[in-house]
Amino acid sequence: MFSRILIANRGEIAVRIIRACQELGIQTVAVYSKADKDSRHVKMATSAICIGDNPSSESYLNIPAIISAAEIADVEAIHPGYGFLAENPHFAEICESCQIKFIGPQPESVRLMGDKAIARETMQKVNVPIIPGSKSIVSDQQEALKTAKRLGYPVIIKAKAGGGGKGMKVAHNDGKLISAFLTAQAEAEAAFGSPDVYLEKYIKEPRHVEFQILGDRYGHIVHLGERDCTIQRRHQKLIEETPSPAIDSRLRRKMGETAIKAAKAVNYEGAGTVEFLLDTDNKFYFIEMNTRIQVEHPVTEMVTGVDIIKEQIKIAAGEKLKLSQDKIKVRGAAMECRINAEDPDNNFRPCPGKIEQLILPGGNNIRVDTHVYPGYVISPYYDSMIAKIIAYGRNRAEVISVMQRALSETVIEPLKTTVALHQRILGIPKFIRGKYSTSFIDTMFEEHKKKK
Ligand code: ADP
Repeated sequence: MFSRILIANRGEIAVRIIRACQELGIQTVAVYSKADKDSRHVKMATSAICIGDNPSSESYLNIPAIISAAEIADVEAIHPGYGFLAENPHFAEICESCQIKFIGPQPESVRLMGDKAIARETMQKVNVPIIPGSKSIVSDQQEALKTAKRLGYPVIIKAKAGGGGKGMKVAHNDGKLISAFLTAQAEAEAAFGSPDVYLEKYIKEPRHVEFQILGDRYGHIVHLGERDCTIQRRHQKLIEETPSPAIDSRLRRKMGETAIKAAKAVNYEGAGTVEFLLDTDNKFYFIEMNTRIQVEHPVTEMVTGVDIIKEQIKIAAGEKLKLSQDKIKVRGAAMECRINAEDPDNNFRPCPGKIEQLILPGGNNIRVDTHVYPGYVISPYYDSMIAKIIAYGRNRAEVISVMQRALSETVIEPLKTTVALHQRILGIPKFIRGKYSTSFIDTMFEEHKKKK
């Protein structure tokens, strides 16, 4: 086992990783930007090193600074968390060449799944269902029009390096396609440094259902069940839960087996997530694999009792995965609400600022993962996450009532947050019945406007 790990991240996930390391008896090295000097991860780690200025490009994405910090601190491994460098195969390779273990899959798996167009091809080869789409990159407007005609509208244009919903645009006709295509290319170039995009049929009213995977370096791969992440805004998750109210045990088994097949196709090692869209006929399609820890991993931990971060570290240290598929049992139900500093009534615009008053929920069946404290300033430089509230219950109805109770205890002043929005969502009959699609939030806002 490692004796010292550097955490190349910030915020709640850095805190989460430090906690796992503390329990495993591993020393931690935090890195931070100037803006984060008073952050909780800096205080909690065994030691901390400033790696640069506030913009991520100068700190959390600054590979030379992070590698230098790792060498100075003499760590054996780096945990990349999520976002930033977590899915950068170049970073994984550099770690390896410096004899520092990258806590994640082999660089080749990151590369294969990180390019969504290549990931689609790889999945097709092993008969994992993918959404009908272009064969690979669509480079000009004529080709885009031709592909859209073949697929039939609506279509979605996606960045091959995609993530965070960036470079993703939906088009309903030829007229809209060209502007959507050009905007997607420009967004992709700005976000990922490459304008490469591809086209997919836009699935109407889908659900987002993903499977948590764990694999060791000896080829043993299991899944820890699914998470339903259908409640989204701007194609980004807001509420995640398990089990999914949309699938039965037969479909769960089939999707789980397919997820393992997808992971095996890239010799997957570590924790990863295979994401599917489920259409209204219960057909499911691979959309991507995230080769890292996910924001929503705690809901899986709540129902399986598996500490996914500890498993990541043990796998990276070369240990054999002790879990077998038939021994993994899902008990009860869990849900996560992402509490962000943003204004739902203003197209979810980020609203950073200082937290003057803070009361976080607690009590039976509640877990809160956060890095904030009273007086903490949510910085405009990074994402707007304040906290994740995770609730557990014997069944979905109980989880909803535990979560409602937890949300009603939560006070984060004077920032605009998503707390009240979550309370509203949890009270809507369609949500309570579990019958909805990814358009739930848009529909909710439209209905609210009509009533006004
Ligand atoms: P990103 O990596 O940018 O988050 P994903 O490919 O994971 O992008 O997709 C994010 C979300 O976008 C999905 O959960 C879904 O809501 C929507 N989406 C993606 N592809 C399609 C599609 N072909 N049809 C309908 N919705 C889609």
